[in-house]
Amino acid sequence: MFETLSDRLNSVFKKFSGQKTLNEENVQEGLREVRLALLEADVNFKVVKQFTDRVRERCLGQEVLKGVNPAQQVIKIVHDELVDLLGGGTTGLDLRGKQPYVIMMVGLQGSGKTTSSAKLANYLRKQKMKPYLVPADVYRPAAIDQLHTLAKQLGIPAFASTTQMNPVDIATAAYADAREQQCNVVILDTAGRLHVDEQLMNELVAMKSALNPQEILFVADAMTGQDAVTVAEAFNAKLGLTGAVLTKMDGDARGGAALSIKTVTGTSVKFVGMGEKISDLEVFHPDRIAGRILGMGDVLTLVEKAQAEVTQEEAEAMAQKMQKAEFDFDDFRTQMRRMRKLGSLEGILKLIPGMGKLRDKLGDLHVPDKEMNRIESIINSMTDQERRNPDLINPSRKKRIAGGCGMQVQDVDNLIKSFAQMRMMMKQMMGGGKKGKKGKMPA
Ligand code: GDP
Repeated sequence: MFETLSDRLNSVFKKFSGQKTLNEENVQEGLREVRLALLEADVNFKVVKQFTDRVRERCLGQEVLKGVNPAQQVIKIVHDELVDLLGGGTTGLDLRGKQPYVIMMVGLQGSGKTTSSAKLANYLRKQKMKPYLVPADVYRPAAIDQLHTLAKQLGIPAFASTTQMNPVDIATAAYADAREQQCNVVILDTAGRLHVDEQLMNELVAMKSALNPQEILFVADAMTGQDAVTVAEAFNAKLGLTGAVLTKMDGDARGGAALSIKTVTGTSVKFVGMGEKISDLEVFHPDRIAGRILGMGDVLTLVEKAQAEVTQEEAEAMAQKMQKAEFDFDDFRTQMRRMRKLGSLEGILKLIPGMGKLRDKLGDLHVPDKEMNRIESIINSMTDQERRNPDLINPSRKKRIAGGCGMQVQDVDNLIKSFAQMRMMMKQMMGGGKKGKKGKMPA
């Protein structure tokens, strides 16, 4: 996401780096390009105007610092204003008052409501809450089954809705059941339509009056850009939204929705969907996103992701093994599984400062699932001893391993060779053996 915008803004900043000071002329010129970059990213034109006016004012205002180069000054100002545009501080869920709390998910069909409901339930459970899922989309065929399947996978209770039931009745009965089951947060997956329509809105308003939800989250497909914002306005007028979830931010959404929604509707984005998996939901942090847009990377999100999967002790133990070239196939398999949980290598690289540009040079970094499966099945076919001590693997053992996983000896050979190379590289990268150069485990 935001790649094009990010590239465009960076080329504007580059031009400023050749300048001695900020003046009316170069600011005007630079902002013309910022304006175009934002419009191209499908940001609402009123938002763009407001944004560039503010940046101009600040660039030419009193606060310009002597001794700091113009490019840095402009980046700092654009960064601050982007944070503001994205909603300022992080605004998590506001769950207060009577329990169980109620979160109502609303939005058009296909925006990702059902998926996001399950993702949110999973997220809340990690926050030590007891979620309860309510399929209340009685119109879209299979929506109820879809949520039931996800709930079952997660082991989270869900209401046994049927398409014959009325959504308001579902909501009230489900609430009673959630309380009975001692759940403390009810997530309502409501029906969507292809377009905003009166009947749907009335139904949602009736559900709102029945349950008085703490949160009404508008789920929007980020790929639809400004359309998402227009629809949000319509929902907001009827329901009074408390926040938004922007889905499909892993795709090539240009960023228009994320950058316009707060200014146009007054609603803050609270979460973003970063993929189809249940774990692909991130809390929306305007400052980190602004950093990502400006190519400063988002190390904090990376660290959080990594922390969810690995403890400090584990990371240190792994770093030691790498330094001493003791990294074995057991460790390799563990890392590979972890990597899969974190998402693709490419996704991780995007979060590292400066890596955005490198990514283009490196080309396709995605290791396909199929290849990962092949590697894992070779490792699984080794004995514990072989995994811990790869040097033991002689030709006859290779043959046995290949037979065990239904592959050629050459496949096993290739894996062992790449593994040996990787181990060597790790040792070098981690400064193995050299004093005072302590490496850190890559996430
Ligand atoms: P609903 O009609 O609003 O309930 O939408 P669904 O939850 O069924 O989602 C529609 C489609 O979008 C499904 O194929 C989902 O897998 C997909 N989807 C939802 N959220 C995301 C996301 O964050 N990223 C990606 N890539 N796909 C998503």
